[in-house]
Amino acid sequence: MILIQVGASSKNKSGKKKGALDFNSGWKYAPAPESKDHIQLKNRYDLFINGKFTEPESGKYFDTISPSTEKKLAEVAEANSNDVDKAVNAARHAYEKTWSRMPAKERGKYMYRIARIMQERARELAVIESMDGGKPIRESRDIDIPLAAAHFFYYAGWADKMDYSTPGAKTKSLGVAGQIIPWNFPLLMAAWKIAPALAAGNTVVLKPAETTPLTAMKLAEIIQEAGLPDGVVNIITGAGATGAAIVNHPGINKIAFTGSTEVGKIIQKALAGTNKKYTLELGGKAANIIFEDAAIDQAVEGIVNGIFFNQGHVCCAGSRLFVQESVADVVIRKLKDRMETLIVGDPLDKNTDIGAINSKDQLEKIKKYVKIGIHEGGVCYQSSCSVPSKGFFYRPTLFTNVSQSSRIVQEEIFGPVLSIQTFRTVEEVIEKANNIPYGLSGGVWTDKGSKIFKVTSQLRAGVIWANTYNKFDPTSPFGGYKESGMGREGGLHGLMPYLEVIH
Ligand code: ADP
Repeated sequence: MILIQVGASSKNKSGKKKGALDFNSGWKYAPAPESKDHIQLKNRYDLFINGKFTEPESGKYFDTISPSTEKKLAEVAEANSNDVDKAVNAARHAYEKTWSRMPAKERGKYMYRIARIMQERARELAVIESMDGGKPIRESRDIDIPLAAAHFFYYAGWADKMDYSTPGAKTKSLGVAGQIIPWNFPLLMAAWKIAPALAAGNTVVLKPAETTPLTAMKLAEIIQEAGLPDGVVNIITGAGATGAAIVNHPGINKIAFTGSTEVGKIIQKALAGTNKKYTLELGGKAANIIFEDAAIDQAVEGIVNGIFFNQGHVCCAGSRLFVQESVADVVIRKLKDRMETLIVGDPLDKNTDIGAINSKDQLEKIKKYVKIGIHEGGVCYQSSCSVPSKGFFYRPTLFTNVSQSSRIVQEEIFGPVLSIQTFRTVEEVIEKANNIPYGLSGGVWTDKGSKIFKVTSQLRAGVIWANTYNKFDPTSPFGGYKESGMGREGGLHGLMPYLEVIH
């Protein structure tokens, strides 16, 4: 039998909470759905190759559905290896004849134009992102879309300043970049990948994830509207086989991949022995560490932001919480109370904190891990919040009584599931936090700067936030250690993998 405690942390026998606030009774908001009236989606999207929407040679299309309604939104083309070949050839031609020959200042102008159109169409992009991917409109409106435009602005600024990127040396573009992205930040990941590639003078073949292709197709429209020369950016849709055809195409000079560690390893093997450069941004299992001297309420909010907002669909999600023993009880109590206030539901509602899980498969994976956690002896607690009956949704969940060897502590779940462990000393928590195959990100909450310096210098993670969590900026590099990947994206570091440096 599976036992899950649902919103019952402080209830007495009559079901009433002892001393705790009854959040469910007094905190109802009226629905505040974002309008879909201004959204124009075609029934069918072809491949964006050489500046035009082109029917796939495969002749095949697949559906993209809304994970919150399970209804079909549109169908998109499935590119086969001939389609990939066409896209790579278009990118090569554009690289040799146009983009690499164009003055860098002019390249920058196109990128600024793309950024501005993204801003003008921000509302439309945010709504489509939430419809296709399931994330709350608050996230797509306030984080994904503004940050995507910010990346184009930032890298547009670099386009004519390449000589300053490597003082004392010259740089050269690589050629055609093949870019494969996941479903958790569809438009933002496209911007992370395309913007530095273009600024450095490369051309692009990009493949969005099969469950979230629509904002990428909207980006193709924006690229057309910006008048970017044909073939500089090609966007082709499909699943793993299409991605593999990009990776293995001999005309590709660089692969940039964000996705699972499992697929990252397959790609790394496929690229071994070739002269293709690559960057891989893979899984994570971040430690969020709370010391007893932290501002506890602020830290609790940071934990909630780190793992529950955005459904835990973030590779840098703070999915392992380490709390100093002396404050563990109070942190866990406050966390459970806060979980009770979280609203799970319609991604388009502005009150929603936790939207839809991206796909049925992902929902099944989360359920599987929760069962594993319980069978391993973990104590599972879930918010008692209501969950829509249609669509793929999951309640915010936390586990106590877990150990370092528990699978839910070691493996990436990619859902709103938090595991909590306690510690006594700084040394102990650093040891525990590092005892994992991943090393993408982490968080530390303390009043003491010295502890921040000690923890951040000893945690093996690419990004560590102090007294905050999940903050991004285009100027700041992002990437991992160990099985979380290699290379950095963002900032000057993110430009370098698209350049050859000539000393
Ligand atoms: P996630 O678990 O985040 O869905 P995946 O690694 O499965 O991550 O997918 C990330 C991206 O990689 C998607 O665009 C997917 O289509 C693509 N992909 C999946 N398998 C392969 C493969 N063997 N080669 C290249 N790309 C792949």
